Amino acid sequence: MDFKLSDELKLMQLTVREFVEKEVHPKEAQIEEKDSIPDELINKVRQLGLFGISIPEKYGGLGLDMVGKCIIAEELGRGCAGFAALLGSHTGIGTSGIVMAGSDFLQGKYLPAMAEGTKIGAFALTEPDAGSDASALKTTAVKKGDRWILNGTKHFITNGPEASVITTMAVTDPSRGAKGISAFLVENTFPGFKVGTVEKKMGLRGSHTSELIFDDCEVPEENLLGKENEGFIVALRVLASGRAGLAARSVGACRRLMELCLRYAHERVQFGRPIIENQAIQWMLADMATETEAARALTYQTAWQVDQGMDIIRAAAMTKLFASEVYCRVADKAVQIHGGMGYMKELPIERIYRDARITRIYEGTSEVQRMVIAAQLMKNGFTF
Ligand SMILES: Cc1cc2nc3c(=O)[nH]c(=O)nc-3n(C[C@H](O)[C@H](O)[C@H](O)COP(=O)(O)OP(=O)(O)OC[C@H]3O[C@@H](n4cnc5c(N)ncnc54)[C@H](O)[C@@H]3O)c2cc1C
Repeated sequence: MDFKLSDELKLMQLTVREFVEKEVHPKEAQIEEKDSIPDELINKVRQLGLFGISIPEKYGGLGLDMVGKCIIAEELGRGCAGFAALLGSHTGIGTSGIVMAGSDFLQGKYLPAMAEGTKIGAFALTEPDAGSDASALKTTAVKKGDRWILNGTKHFITNGPEASVITTMAVTDPSRGAKGISAFLVENTFPGFKVGTVEKKMGLRGSHTSELIFDDCEVPEENLLGKENEGFIVALRVLASGRAGLAARSVGACRRLMELCLRYAHERVQFGRPIIENQAIQWMLADMATETEAARALTYQTAWQVDQGMDIIRAAAMTKLFASEVYCRVADKAVQIHGGMGYMKELPIERIYRDARITRIYEGTSEVQRMVIAAQLMKNGFTF
C-alpha cells in the first residue's frame, strides 16, 4: 500500500484544511443557530470544485480516486458535520450511482451540473417500513408507455429538500423481493414529486433530512438507472463505496476533538496545575489518539482497496463500524475532559458529541455492519 499523496492532492488537502479553519469554523455557531449553510460557503465549495470530487473530469468533476475523496472528506469532517454531511451525501451516495451505473445519456445530462454544485444529489432508499431491512421497500414503479409511474414515500433522506436529482429505489417486480427493485433518477421538477416533512434532528444542523413523496410521479423511461430489477445491487454498491468516505469524516471530527482537548487540558488549571498533568486525563488522550489513528489507518486501507478494484464488502463494513464507534467514544471522552464546559453550548464540544451519534445509524447501523461482516466471515472465513 502506498499512501504517498501526489503534489496535487497534498495541495488540495492544504487548501481544504485552510478553508475549514478560516471560513467554516468561524461560521459553525451561525450554522447551528440557523440550521442552514451560508451562501458564501456553498459558493466557495463550488469554486474549489468540491461538489465534483467523485465525478469524472470529462463531465467537469475532479475525478478523484477513493483515497483522494477520503483526504477531502477527512478535512471537511474536521469542520462542521452538517456541512460535511450535505457535501458527503451529494458527492457520495447522491452521485456515485450515476457514475457507476448511469448510461452515457444520463451521465451527460446530470453530471456536469452536479459537478458544479448547481444540481444537488440525494439517495432515496429508506422508507417508514424499510430501514435496516431496506429490501422491504414499498414504493412502486409501473411502466406506462414511455414513462415509469412511481408511487410511495421515502423518509429520512439527506438533502431531500434541496436535491434536484434523486437516485430512488422502487419495486418493479413485487414477486422477486430484492431482485425486483430498480433504481431511477428522479428530478424534483417531475410531475407528482414533492418534498414532505423536514425532520427536526438531534444534531447535524445545516444538513436537512426529509420525506419525499411520489404521487403518480412521472419519470421518463430513460431515467432508469442501470438495468431493470437490478437496482438493489446498485444501492448496495453505492452504500459500500460510501462507507470509507463516512469513516474519513468521522476521523476528521476526531482530529478536531483531539486538538480542542489538548488545548483545554493544557489551559485548565485545577488543584494548582493544568489538568493534563493528571494521568487520568493523559490516559484518555492516549486512548483517543490511538483509536483515531487506528480508524484512520483502516479508512485509508479500505480506500486503497477500493482503488485497486478489490472486493471491499467486509472492509467497508468494518471501517464504517469502527470509525463511527471511535468517533462516539472520542466525543464522549472530549466532554469528560472539558468537565462542565463540555456540556455547555459556549464550546463546540457538546455539538460535536451530538453530531457524532448519527454516524452509528445512517448508511447502515452498527448492527447491520456487524451482520455484513459476520456474513462475509461465514462465507469466506477470515481470509486476506
Ligand atoms: C439523519 C439521517 C439521515 C439519513 N439519510 C438517508 C439518506 O440520505 N438516504 C436513505 O435512504 N436513508 C437515509 N437515512 C436512513 C438510515 O439509513 C436509516 O435510519 C438506518 O438504515 C436505520 O434504519 P431505521 O431508522 O429504520 O432503523 P431500524 O431498521 O428500525 O432499526 C432499529 C434498531 O434495530 C436494529 N436492528 C434492525 N434489524 C436488526 C437485526 N436484524 N439484527 C440486529 N439489530 C437489528 C438496528 O440496528 C437499530 O439499532 C438517514 C437517517 C438519518 C437519521
